[in-house]
Amino acid sequence: MQQEQIDLLRWQPIIPQKLFIDGQWVAGTGSQNKVLSPIDGRVLTTIERASRADMQAAVAAARNAFADGRWADLAPSARKQVLHKLADLIQENALELAVLGVRDNGTEINMAIKAEPGSAAATFRYYAEAIDKVYGEIAPTAPDFLGLIHKEPVGVVGAIIPWNMPLMIGAWKLAPALAAGNSVVVKPAEEASLTTLRLAELALEAGVPAGVFNVVTGKGSEVGEELAMSMDVDVLVFTGSGMTGRRLLEYSARSNMKRVYLELGGKSANIVFADAPDLEQAAMGAAMAIFRNSGQICISGSRLLVEASIHDEFVAMVVKHAQALQVGDPLSLGSQVGAINSVGQLNGNLEFVEKAVAEGATIVAGGERVMEETGGYYMQPTVITGVEPHHHLAQAEVFGPVLGVIPFQDEAEAIAIANDSDFGLSGAAWTSNLSRVHRMIKAVKTGMMHINTYGGADATMPLGGVKQSGNGVDKSLHAFDKYVDIKTAWIKL
Ligand code: ADP
Repeated sequence: MQQEQIDLLRWQPIIPQKLFIDGQWVAGTGSQNKVLSPIDGRVLTTIERASRADMQAAVAAARNAFADGRWADLAPSARKQVLHKLADLIQENALELAVLGVRDNGTEINMAIKAEPGSAAATFRYYAEAIDKVYGEIAPTAPDFLGLIHKEPVGVVGAIIPWNMPLMIGAWKLAPALAAGNSVVVKPAEEASLTTLRLAELALEAGVPAGVFNVVTGKGSEVGEELAMSMDVDVLVFTGSGMTGRRLLEYSARSNMKRVYLELGGKSANIVFADAPDLEQAAMGAAMAIFRNSGQICISGSRLLVEASIHDEFVAMVVKHAQALQVGDPLSLGSQVGAINSVGQLNGNLEFVEKAVAEGATIVAGGERVMEETGGYYMQPTVITGVEPHHHLAQAEVFGPVLGVIPFQDEAEAIAIANDSDFGLSGAAWTSNLSRVHRMIKAVKTGMMHINTYGGADATMPLGGVKQSGNGVDKSLHAFDKYVDIKTAWIKL
């Protein structure tokens, strides 16, 4: 990747965006929204703020496409070819997609290129390959019966996705949904819709039939709600906040009881023991677990639990890394931390810092907005010590570059603090004691644990939360289960 290539794409005008329904770009019947870039606060383009009627049209297109079997009834090997082609197109257009996404949401380009088109292409490939390799079952019934267990596509899948990693998270949902033969309607976040719209266009080019992949942009409380309340959507998948997740469950209950799968927030504990194999590496890991993408990652290690005997020494190492990180224009290859997605998000982060100080904690690195003169939204990587488990900063998700440090005396206390949370998404333990590794994996109530590392981006491993971090998983063959109905057949022999 060359800086010149990025700069060329950086200034390209982005045409006003439309909705993608039934294989066509269509004007919405609502209004238009300006899209502001977090890089400099300037207007990038406009997107449709679609009406409820537009969402109904998209759901109807998806239903028609499913009903006539134009996708669901293709041979699995044919669907596989199309999704491989889509992965090829994502790779061919990777830099364009990454730059478009960064202009829209502010992620540093070094990360965006891998995490967005890179990961999306890999995810489409993974599920493309699975299509003709996942078999049904024959049940061990009595010999005078044959019991068949089929997995059928559910029909129409609604996907509501967030602004932080729309291509990666979108692909985690769309790839298995499409692979299983469903039609989809996607509602991207208002703050980052551009790459999903482009993905829909690439899907059509790859051979996904018209009507199978629809994108409707607009407000969550309008078109998002319409999708979730639809009587014609069979499964709803979501990544976003707990507050919206709660609403989606209600919408389902009030409409057709569609299955709802939620990937919500986290307040993940990154636990460093004095016997960590390499404290320097652990400090770097702890910094990157929260400062990558300015902390705008659901699995961020936002609570750092440090054994008291190494607390001061370890915090000093983390602070050194935090202060050395280059915050800057996310489209500059030299930047290690990009922009905060919106001014609202930035102000929310600053309020968390203020409140932590008011509760008695101490800022030991960062804490402030920077580069305000650019018009963009940037914040220093921030480390706060003296955080107590009941403090707001220890309990609520910031979704920004703000790390709260909590000391602990022993393993039992570390586990108790880690589990003192409504969330249960991710976590980590740094230790060289093998027995402790297994005790920690078992004891910490989360969907995923890391040992002597943080973060992992492989499609082979499921990702999902427990407690109020959600239900169901993205990624791996387990994710297929969300997008299929189990149909059984008893045959009398
Ligand atoms: P965040 O705090 O990350 O913006 P949200 O839960 O507000 O999280 O947004 C995630 C996605 O949910 C976005 O696409 C947003 O438009 C959508 N959304 C927000 N409110 C609703 C709602 N009431 N019904 C359906 N979707 C919604």
